[in-house]
Amino acid sequence: MNVHDSERLSGLLEDAGYRRAADGDDADVVVFNTCAVRENADNKLYGNLSHLAPRKQADPGMQIAVGGCLAQKDRASVLDRAPWVDVVFGTHNIGSLPALLDRARHNRAAQVEIIDALEEFPSDLPAARESSYAAWVSISVGCNNTCTFCIVPSLRGKEVDRRPGDILAEVQALVDQGVLEVTLLGQNVNAYGVSFADPELPRDRGAFAKLLRACGNIDGLERVRFTSPHPAEFTDDVIDAMAATPNICPQLHMPLQSGSDRILKAMRRSYRAEKFLGIIDRVREKMPHAAITTDLIVGFPGETEEDFQATLDVVERARFASAFTFQYSKRPGTPAATLADQVPPEVVKERYGRLIELQERICMAGNAEQVGRTVELLVAAGEGRKDTATARLTGRARDGRLVHFAPGDVDGIRPGDIVTAQVTAAAPHHLVADGGVLSHRRTRAGDAHEAGQRPVTGVKRVGLGMPGLGRPAPQPALSSCGSGCS
Ligand code: SF4
Repeated sequence: MNVHDSERLSGLLEDAGYRRAADGDDADVVVFNTCAVRENADNKLYGNLSHLAPRKQADPGMQIAVGGCLAQKDRASVLDRAPWVDVVFGTHNIGSLPALLDRARHNRAAQVEIIDALEEFPSDLPAARESSYAAWVSISVGCNNTCTFCIVPSLRGKEVDRRPGDILAEVQALVDQGVLEVTLLGQNVNAYGVSFADPELPRDRGAFAKLLRACGNIDGLERVRFTSPHPAEFTDDVIDAMAATPNICPQLHMPLQSGSDRILKAMRRSYRAEKFLGIIDRVREKMPHAAITTDLIVGFPGETEEDFQATLDVVERARFASAFTFQYSKRPGTPAATLADQVPPEVVKERYGRLIELQERICMAGNAEQVGRTVELLVAAGEGRKDTATARLTGRARDGRLVHFAPGDVDGIRPGDIVTAQVTAAAPHHLVADGGVLSHRRTRAGDAHEAGQRPVTGVKRVGLGMPGLGRPAPQPALSSCGSGCS
C-alpha cells in the first residue's frame, strides 16, 4: 500500500512539472513517504531528516516533505523535531502535496495539512509506475477491523471501496500499456463491496469474487494476484472464482498471525484456527498446486508456551510455501501496546527461532517438490541480487515462487518477457532452473521495459490553485537598486 502510494506521489509531482532526479544527484525536493507499521519508523525518519539538515541550510530553496502514516500519527510534532521540514501531509490527502509545496515556497513557511477522512480516492490520482510489466491496483483503502496490534485503522481510517468499473478501467489502462500482471490491493479484500464510496452502489458481499471473474475477461491480462484477504471474511465464492478464472494466479497470502484461539481472540481476529485450516483445505481441493503464504506474530502479549505450540501445530498442518514472521513489539497507539502481560524479549526471541526453524523446513520441503516441474516465469528486474555473478536471470512463477534461471543459448530475454524452464534445484526461498529456457515469448511489457517506458494511470490534473507549479525558474539577478527592475 505504501509503495503504491509512493507511485502516486511520483505521478502527482511529475504531473505538476517535477522531474525525477538522477541517481546520486541532489534533489530539489525530497519526499519521505513513511510507514508506521514497521519498527523504528520514527528513528529512521528523524535520522534521515537530520542528514538532510545541512543541505537545507546550504540551499534553503530545496524542499523537504514528510507524508504517510507516521506524519498522520505525529502531525505537527514532525516540525517540532525537525523545523527545517517544509511540508507535512497525511494519508488522506496525498493529492495535496504539489499545492502544499507551492504554498510553502510562496509563503516561505512550513505547511502542515493532516485531515481525518479521505479527501478523494487515491487511485483517481496520477501514478508513475515503477514497473513496465506488473502493477498495483487499489480496490479499497482503510480497514473496519480493529486488530489490537495494528495501527492501520487509526491512521488509514474506515474502509472505503472503489467502484468496480473504476478498478477495471484502471486495469484495462495498464494492460493497454503492456502490463501483464496486476495485484489488487486492499487491507481486507474480502470485505470489498460492503463500503462502496459511491452511495448508489448497493452493498454486495459477493463483489470481490465478481471482480476476480471480471478480471478474467480482460484480454492480455495474464496474471492477477491480490492482497490481503482476511480469514474471518473469506468466502467460498472467492475460491470458486479463483479456480474458474485462468488468469488468477494459484497463490494465496492468508495472514494467520497466531494458531492459538485464545491469542486470536486477544488480537481481536474473529476467526479460529480450525476455520483457517478449513479455508486452506478447500483452496487446495480446488487448486492443488496453490502456494499459500502467511504472516505470523510471535510473542503477542499473554502468549504462553501452550499458545505458541498451537501456532507451531497450525504451521505444521498448513504447510505454508513461505511466511512473513514477526517478533511482537509494541506499536504506540495500538491497544496491545498497553497490555500488562508483555512477553519478555528473550522468550520471544527463543520462540521465534523455533518457528523459523520449522517454517524453513516446510519451505524447503515444498520447494523440493517443485524440482523437475516446468514453470512459466514472468522475467523480473532487480529481484536476483546475485544474477550478475551467476549469469542467471530471475522471474516469478505463476504461484509467486522466485526462480533464478540460466538463459542457456537464448539471447535477448528482457524483464517483462515470459519464459518457461524446468526447475533443477531448490532452496528454502527460491528455485533454480539451470537447464536453459524451454521457450521465450517477447512481450509488449518487455518492449516497454527496454524502451524505459513505465505505465501511467490516473486523472491528469491541472494546477491546484496556487501560483505556479514545480520549482520556480531562477529569478533574474537583482539590479543595483534591488527592485528587480533593469
Ligand atoms: S485486518 Fe487487522 S491487521 Fe489488517 S489492516 Fe485491518 S486492523 Fe490491521
